[in-house]
Amino acid sequence: MEQTLAIVKPDGVARKLIGEVIKRIEANDLNICAVKLIHMTKSQAQGFYAVHKERPFFNDLTDFMSSGPALVMILKGENAIAKWREMMGATNYKEAAQGTIRCEFATDIEKNVVHGSDAPETAAFETSYFFNAFERTAE
Ligand code: GDP
Repeated sequence: MEQTLAIVKPDGVARKLIGEVIKRIEANDLNICAVKLIHMTKSQAQGFYAVHKERPFFNDLTDFMSSGPALVMILKGENAIAKWREMMGATNYKEAAQGTIRCEFATDIEKNVVHGSDAPETAAFETSYFFNAFERTAE
């Protein structure tokens, strides 16, 4: 069983899309094994997205991610990383496949409603960024 980090980003929380996202997670047979609503500070957002620190959009992205509450979750299931990425759709909502969350709800390349880890190493870093060992191993 694989674990991945999922986030309903501040745009998704503000637009009351938490229920829509969780409905899809459950319908696709992924389990939520940890969850919390957090309002990231700018520096927490910078730490989370440190891999992007040289990108031109880093400052905007970390402003956005710290602009309001976000729902962070650990999802567990078979092929959870790839499965959740597929449900999210491409980063750019204009290129996202029909039926994906980003295709249906994103409004902008940045304000794309959800986040998902892209590999086992990033999933390990990202789940431990927000959840302690006790929370990560709870069912
Ligand atoms: P993801 O793994 O699909 O979320 O995509 P990336 O890791 O490449 O980028 C992280 C996040 O940065 C994306 O989800 C967007 O919110 C944002 N982002 C990516 N590309 C751009 C861009 O060209 N401009 C802006 N403003 N934000 C971007």
